[in-house]
Amino acid sequence: MRIENEVKLDFSDVLIRPKRSTLTSRADVTLEREFIFLHSPKKWKGIPLMTANMDATGTFSIARALAPHGIVTFLHKYYSIEELAEFFKTFNFPDRIAYTLGIRDEDFEKLAAVKKAGLDKFFSFICLDVPNGYIDRFIQSVKKVRKDFPEHILVAGNVVTNEITEELLLSGADIVKVGIGSGSSCITRRKTGVGYPQLSAVIECADAAHGISNEKKGCGLIISDGGAVYPSCVAKAFCGGADFLMSGSLFAGYEQSGGTTIEKDGKKFKRYMGSSSREALFQNYGKVAAHRASEGRVTFIPHRGDINDFILDLFGSLRSSGTYIGARSLREFSKRATFIRVNHQLNSSLERYDSENQ
Ligand code: 5GP
Repeated sequence: MRIENEVKLDFSDVLIRPKRSTLTSRADVTLEREFIFLHSPKKWKGIPLMTANMDATGTFSIARALAPHGIVTFLHKYYSIEELAEFFKTFNFPDRIAYTLGIRDEDFEKLAAVKKAGLDKFFSFICLDVPNGYIDRFIQSVKKVRKDFPEHILVAGNVVTNEITEELLLSGADIVKVGIGSGSSCITRRKTGVGYPQLSAVIECADAAHGISNEKKGCGLIISDGGAVYPSCVAKAFCGGADFLMSGSLFAGYEQSGGTTIEKDGKKFKRYMGSSSREALFQNYGKVAAHRASEGRVTFIPHRGDINDFILDLFGSLRSSGTYIGARSLREFSKRATFIRVNHQLNSSLERYDSENQ
């Protein structure tokens, strides 16, 4: 047994210190980024935000709503090949779509069938997604998919530490997805005791990833996945070095999101179901296998209306963060940022307002 004594940080443990800036308007801050990758020959340009591949946020309707904003939708794993084929007849924005899969034999058979049907040209990203990216079979799977899909931008996760980030990148991943136990619908920490505070995971994994580069100026990249509660968390993730940010809960609860709507005491709520919740395992696999426990939960999010309003608010908030630290682009956030450790990330009047209005 060994104890690491250095304190690890969540988004809520810090604030961003303002800095003198020559920017005159929020409009001066550009959120678009362009990336060259470690393995894939593709170039990608867009807003580096991604929806989680969950029932509520990895849907066709979310993709249609968010692609015009430059955001990438990670489709959930449960669409059939026929459904995908139908969708791609009217949706041809490959840079805004990720196909996601696990590492079961059935997942690879489906991916091969998707390729055979010629559908792989409709998505630029392939995401190998498992709750625990530390197992050997996962690394082998990354190597296999890299070999079979040399052109695609390969995302692999989830992990939270530097050495495995490097290993996944060297095994063929272009982007490593970072976050264990941070998701709002995740109860892994409660069930297993395993996890890593999200901001520290991002800082450490980004540092490891950015240190691996190629002769074409591509380097390893990371996604901060889970745990963003406010727009400010998104800014903090980018300040910490995240290249992309993925969220489920931020994009759930809107008209365009998936999940059933229920009404309680005259108020509308949308169901947000953790991918490993009992409910999701039953819905998608018909059972919770005897050897595993559910590591997710279902929450109900107050109905939030049109997602377009939220996206404009999120973009405005990010631009404002940029003006406070003098960053002209998202790319500069991490160079310009100094974090200060705090006891409270929000002022108390706002916390009172939130609790009174829940
Ligand atoms: P959020 O943005 O809601 O905080 O987190 C979304 C992320 O939580 C997802 O991208 C995924 O990594 C993670 N996640 C989703 N469902 C579950 C679940 O049932 N269990 C666990 N452990 N993590 C989940």
